[in-house]
Amino acid sequence: MPTESKTKKATTAKKTATAKTVKQESAKKEVVKTDFDKKILFATSEAVPFIKTGGLADVAGALPKALVDSGVDCRVILPLYMDIKQEYRDKMEFLGNTYINLSWRNQYCGLFKAVHEGVTYYFVDNEYYFKRSGLYGYYDDGERFAFFSKAVLESISLMEGFCPDIIHSNDWQTALTPVFLDVFFRGDERLKNIKTVYTIHNIEFQGRYSGYIAGDVLGLPDWAREFVDYSGDVNYMKGGIERANKVTTVSQTYAQEILNSYYGYGMNNILVNRQYKLSGIINGIDEKAYDPKTDKHAYVNYDLSTFGDKVKNKLKFQEDLGLPIDENIPMIGMVGRLTHQKGLDLIEHIITRVLDMGVQLVVLGTGDYKYEEMLRSVQIRYPNNLRSLITFSSDLASKVYCSSDMFLMPSKFEPCGLSQMIAMRYGALPIVRETGGLKDTVLPYDYTTGRGTGFTFYSYNAYDLLYAVERAVGMYRDYKEDWAKIVNNAMTKDFSWQNISLRYIDLYKQL
Ligand code: ADP
Repeated sequence: MPTESKTKKATTAKKTATAKTVKQESAKKEVVKTDFDKKILFATSEAVPFIKTGGLADVAGALPKALVDSGVDCRVILPLYMDIKQEYRDKMEFLGNTYINLSWRNQYCGLFKAVHEGVTYYFVDNEYYFKRSGLYGYYDDGERFAFFSKAVLESISLMEGFCPDIIHSNDWQTALTPVFLDVFFRGDERLKNIKTVYTIHNIEFQGRYSGYIAGDVLGLPDWAREFVDYSGDVNYMKGGIERANKVTTVSQTYAQEILNSYYGYGMNNILVNRQYKLSGIINGIDEKAYDPKTDKHAYVNYDLSTFGDKVKNKLKFQEDLGLPIDENIPMIGMVGRLTHQKGLDLIEHIITRVLDMGVQLVVLGTGDYKYEEMLRSVQIRYPNNLRSLITFSSDLASKVYCSSDMFLMPSKFEPCGLSQMIAMRYGALPIVRETGGLKDTVLPYDYTTGRGTGFTFYSYNAYDLLYAVERAVGMYRDYKEDWAKIVNNAMTKDFSWQNISLRYIDLYKQL
């Protein structure tokens, strides 16, 4: 029997999903069971908890799980990298092997299976391609992920009877799967009706290679080369956009932005032509993993009802970082890659003026050398106001989220962004530029209505950023009641995957 979901966000999705709800003890949320009975194969180059370099892994770890919780048979396929830990390998079962043609090559393809938290994962084994440290950055990445994209299709015959109705591929690494499907597999009785979805998580990375690999590696016949041809080069992402039945990206605003040249990185004209099948669905966050009440890296756990305890984290963090210990000093956190995407060139211009406001800025991240050096040298001049933690550490990330009063994310472009959502959940109010997923997840505070979850600015301009920081710091210092209201709005906002997975189900239904 259909019942109502409690959140407003799911309203549209609910209209089309015949649903019944089941109380899940652990999640303490109502999980909507759908009647959607198509099988999904989610093809990805990384997935939490097995292997991660960025946001794609978080999505691949959370979305299939949310779909499975809703009753959808969604399985995940990824390469069996050398860096996948033994504890996960111990749970894998060998299903069989086959061989894959890549032009003149004939490559081994083994398939392993593991079930983790109710989700079935398939691992494509080929030691020549994947027995290397790390995931990307090899001279033959184009060949490695062309192999994997084709292996996704070839290994279906090894999946013990599982045959997907829909293959959902992601980013450039699996963009060729819809291309190979159309060119080489439509004659196969089992695969001929498969539909495809292709999701762009970051349009900057497209998998662009010299034109000769269309024949020498991909083995595409002449008539199919136009699918991947981009000014004489081969562009994997273009292939995914051209051949997938639906193209999505990870926020509604980014779906609009990538239609123009500033954000489109050369894909904009292709996307304009394919706009009829393009849409944006915002990501969620794993609300169990990112919860200040249970975060094991927090000095002191808290939630909204014990929000007063949050400041204990700041005091302890100040002590650990050797900063002046004073609960009244506003702490601004930042966690992320130190690259041009994340607005580091804006920060560079105004950082000393921000520090002159008497705040403490704690930056955690690695990235471009010039930004790391900039932070190191400013820290020497402002030892009481700046800490640059040039490392990758989940422990420190939690401490920044738990301790900060504000969170800085002035991105130049941001397909979705997870950090600002995590920050809101931890009651660190985001200061963001109105772009992509930042625009869709952070509502600027409006004191007349009491609505809003953070502070925003629009133009990619250092002084607009400075002004936004001044507004946030001013409100923190002088308008405590308003501040408490925004914290309340931010911490109660729903970022769960459960609702978002319903939007994907609606998209799959359109196929
Ligand atoms: P990206 O563009 O890098 O995918 P997102 O905001 O979508 O940015 O996701 C970044 C994720 O990686 C967040 O969970 C953030 O906390 C985490 N992260 C980024 N840099 C670091 C770091 N140096 N140490 C620990 N976690 C980090």
